[in-house]
Amino acid sequence: MTSENEHKTAIVTGGSKGIGRAICVELARAGCYTVINYLGDKQGAEQTLAMVEGEGGRGEICRFDVRDGQAVEKIVVEIDARLGSIDILINNAGIIADGLFMMMTPEKWQSVIDTSLNGFYNMTRPVLELMVRRRKGAIVSISSASSLMANRGQANYAAAKAGLNAASRAVASEVARLGIRVNVVAPGLIETDMIREAPKDHIKTMIPMARIGRPDEVAKVVSFLCSDAASYVTGQVISVNGGMF
Ligand code: NDP
Repeated sequence: MTSENEHKTAIVTGGSKGIGRAICVELARAGCYTVINYLGDKQGAEQTLAMVEGEGGRGEICRFDVRDGQAVEKIVVEIDARLGSIDILINNAGIIADGLFMMMTPEKWQSVIDTSLNGFYNMTRPVLELMVRRRKGAIVSISSASSLMANRGQANYAAAKAGLNAASRAVASEVARLGIRVNVVAPGLIETDMIREAPKDHIKTMIPMARIGRPDEVAKVVSFLCSDAASYVTGQVISVNGGMF
């Protein structure tokens, strides 16, 4: 496949399923070599790799925990040295641990902050250091509609994702002159394992498009933000939510 991204290397955290998998496939279509990160679901990651290869793309799977800063830094340096560069970083890994705030245990609070917000820090800082040296790169992080609107039972998730939005804007302003773009995509409700237990019929009534989104609908926006077509877009939080607000 020939495309502007043909020689670009992308790392996608949480690529074993759901939105992360769709992003891997979309980046493969755009010609990227894709490093598919997973935590527990090796089989899922292998399935994603098969889908990437099915698109004529290339990639590899790579297990690490985005909460483990030291391990992440080592892996980032190793990938960059072996593959020549890291051109695209997608901070997608995330979890939910919902509960009303008054009943929220420290573990529930911390686990969500550790994955989404500290995971963003752990991945982005070492990758950015390498991108700054080469004066190029695109970083997209997956936030959530919950970071922009009130959602009962998601104080931990909202705090982590709103932190992601704010940190991304700040980082974007620091590196904009160095050829690196940093953006956020904030999906609404998307059909993945994460929302297995959500009251979908009720939620649909709150969505102007009256349907749940698909992972590929998020992935296409992410791919656009990584491409040269988005060369003047940075520091933005783009909603993909069926018109929810
Ligand atoms: P899924 O639960 O389907 O997938 C989550 C992915 O994150 C898995 O690949 C999982 O890996 C990975 N992961 C979790 N913890 C870690 C960790 N510590 N280190 C590395 N990888 C990890 O979720 P979705 O695809 O639905 O969500 C993807 C992103 O989109 C998340 O950030 C989520 O918050 C966000 N989002 C989702 C929405 C939705 O409606 N689905 C709405 C708004 C935002 P493994 O399976 O290998 O353990």
